[in-house]
Amino acid sequence: MKRLNKRLRLSAVLLALAMCPAVCAQSFRVGTADARPGQRADGFLEVPAGVDAGMKIPVVVVNGAKAGPVLALVAGSHGTEYASVIALERVITTLDPGQLTGTVVILPLVNQASFEQKVPHLNPADGKNMNRFFPGKADGTQTERASQVITKEVIDRSTYVIDYHGGDLDESLVPYTYWGPTGHADQDRVSKEMALAFGLNRIIIWRERPTDPAATRYLDNTASVHGKPSIVVEAGHAGTTEMEDVGLLFNGTISVMRTLKMLAGDPLPIENPVWLEKTVDVNSERTGIFYPLVLRGGYVEAGMKFGYVTDAFGKTIYVARAPVAGIILHICAVPSMKQGEGIATIGVVGKAP
Ligand SMILES: [Zn+2]
Repeated sequence: MKRLNKRLRLSAVLLALAMCPAVCAQSFRVGTADARPGQRADGFLEVPAGVDAGMKIPVVVVNGAKAGPVLALVAGSHGTEYASVIALERVITTLDPGQLTGTVVILPLVNQASFEQKVPHLNPADGKNMNRFFPGKADGTQTERASQVITKEVIDRSTYVIDYHGGDLDESLVPYTYWGPTGHADQDRVSKEMALAFGLNRIIIWRERPTDPAATRYLDNTASVHGKPSIVVEAGHAGTTEMEDVGLLFNGTISVMRTLKMLAGDPLPIENPVWLEKTVDVNSERTGIFYPLVLRGGYVEAGMKFGYVTDAFGKTIYVARAPVAGIILHICAVPSMKQGEGIATIGVVGKAP
């Protein structure tokens, strides 16, 4: 009898918790941004100094009048992938907490030093890629400490995660989404719905990723391994902020929020995206001057010559051939080419999952 009472009491508590999100919105604080229900707050995530200097990451919390899921939107871990940063700025200035169910946590520009100094790919403070060291560690360099703060303060407290990227200063890129299935049917169904709702018409199925929670490397993979549906979206190229790219990222965000019932209105999912079953990188075997022969988004056959590298005297020293047939997802946008660095990434077309 005592046990039954205990069980009843536990059921009552669980029922109250389950009903709570519908009625009892609460304050939500991330770093120094503390937003009451129906309000927005701006602040910073503080990454304390350690073996090198600390840093501050701007954070915006838009706390809906009605309680609901927590959606994290993160851009600028590569600070010169500008279209993604500008798209989240547009989300920040557009979202009305009064119309929102749940909470949106936005990190519009993780890597401010990269942005200010116009340094692509890396964090100038420690020379590390800010999307390769998750879940991070407290005794590492700035990138690793920042990754740990983002994991604890943002990813672990979210229900869903979207990570924004694009072609960097030296990359000419077509828009696409990464969807990383985990083998957990419910989670994969939701993340796939997010990928379709985002609306970009190419979706890369990213299957081979680390599953060790201590070595997840990527931000979205950290969320996935922690059981949170997540996607990566990419648009923009070579330092530009064209309205078409910014618009795709902005509209995709709104459409996902509608799918997740955080905003009213109908989502606009893509109906027949091109599913890409894998990507193949082509790196240059020589240092020199790069000349592309295809545009981003172009289709190449296996063996096709799609670019070449010359020395300073105009002599061709390397010919880039496609190792597989597929779509040029991005191709080097500048003539500077270093041995071992990326010429292009080719997406291999697969079947719809
Ligand atoms: Zn990036």
